[in-house]
Amino acid sequence: MAETEIHDLIVIGAGPGGYVAAARAGARGLKVLLTEKKDLGGVCLNEGCIPSKTLLHSAKLFRHARDSEAYGVYVENPRFKLADVMKRKAKVVGTLRKGMAYQLKRHKVTVVEGEAAFAEPHSITINDQTYHGKNIIIATGSEAMRLPIPGADQMHVLTSREILELTQLPKSIVIVGGGVIGMEFACFFSSVGVEVTVIELLPEILPFFDPDLATGLRRALPEISCHLGCRAEEIGKNDVTFTKNGKAQKIPAELVLLAVGRRPYTQGLKLEKIGLDAGKTGIKVNELLQTNVPNVYAVGDVNGKSPLAHAASRMGEVAANTITGQRDRMRYHAIPWVVYTFPEVAAVGLTVAQAEEQGREVASFKLPMTANGRYLAEHEQASGFCKVVVDAESRALLGVHVLGSYASELIYGAATMIEAELRVEDIRDIVFPHPTVSESLRDAILELPL
Ligand code: FAD
Repeated sequence: MAETEIHDLIVIGAGPGGYVAAARAGARGLKVLLTEKKDLGGVCLNEGCIPSKTLLHSAKLFRHARDSEAYGVYVENPRFKLADVMKRKAKVVGTLRKGMAYQLKRHKVTVVEGEAAFAEPHSITINDQTYHGKNIIIATGSEAMRLPIPGADQMHVLTSREILELTQLPKSIVIVGGGVIGMEFACFFSSVGVEVTVIELLPEILPFFDPDLATGLRRALPEISCHLGCRAEEIGKNDVTFTKNGKAQKIPAELVLLAVGRRPYTQGLKLEKIGLDAGKTGIKVNELLQTNVPNVYAVGDVNGKSPLAHAASRMGEVAANTITGQRDRMRYHAIPWVVYTFPEVAAVGLTVAQAEEQGREVASFKLPMTANGRYLAEHEQASGFCKVVVDAESRALLGVHVLGSYASELIYGAATMIEAELRVEDIRDIVFPHPTVSESLRDAILELPL
């Protein structure tokens, strides 16, 4: 087996966690090797965030064209051509991938294609070659789970990965799982005329969000039929059987999407060779992203801490900063979540229930989007809201929960306020541009008792 020189850092996996860690360490002058077995950009760029949002944008334009008469605009016979939409998706992904390769080159990161496995705590093998690293970051991400029920292995039963390569729209689709990924695809398919049914095991969709967001989203999307508290039991050739309170029901489905969660991916890494502490929920790490093996770090989905691309990138930064001797640590309390449905859902921080579970006394206000000038100007059916949660004693902002267009773009402002521990009084002093949907955040804060 061939040997190579020693690197300061080896990063395994080029998703948003690994790519950012490698680029950051390279920019600081470290000798970095990044290994990737598939494509630069990982799940996020190739099979997740970017392709799904590209498809959703086309679906949104189609919806707008179809519904434009309410705004005095007449568009005749709008059509949705999946082949063209997919072609554009590939173009967007390709452009971003090239940009990523350029950035890595700029920061002098060596990229090696191939599957990495540990040989020792300081060395890995790729394609029969051994590479030594003073530090190693594992950033191998996660994979979609499949349901262990009869019929789940048929050709028309897909995960989010395969569905992003669809060549023809089905007449009907059953989506098993009403979480973020399930609801985004539900919104995409229903927007382009596919009959959509969602089967969710829990009593409500989007289980980790403020319950008002979930019910609000369901009401805003009446064309999606949601079966809540239901268990998918069997997938037939053209239907799905599910049970609710022990009673079975069948619904027709030309296509089935399994959106039942993701699990950390460590296959092939040979973690047992270095005695790494990893369980089903991911590789165990501390707030510096260090594992139990001193020079080995784990960032992103693989540690199961926060399965989001921006969280993975921040973890990559914290690990790279720690390795290069900069003081840093990972905090999770102000990481925003977004669901790119129509309307969008975005949230950051605590819900009322979560804050109360922590023993806090809270004050909260929910401002309807009908009170927002820009929202009304742009929406004939303004069904959203902005809900703020503050600590009644310290008056610090604890959480913001938004249903409505632009929620994805305004939520970072709320995250900044939570991260900076701003209080109601501080936020009231900030001037927001008018007319913007972001004003709903300040207006909700203004409604809280003085
Ligand atoms: P990944 O992006 O999974 O990358 C890991 C990389 O490691 C992969 O490229 C893999 O090939 C490589 N790898 C694995 N094993 C090895 C090995 N042994 N050797 C070499 N390489 C290896 N998150 C958001 O924040 N916003 C969104 O809108 C969003 N939308 C999503 C939509 C979908 C459909 C999906 C599936 C996910 C979405 N996510 C979204 C989640 C997001 O994609 C992940 O949180 C993010 O990609 C995790 O980044 P990562 O760096 O941990 O790993």
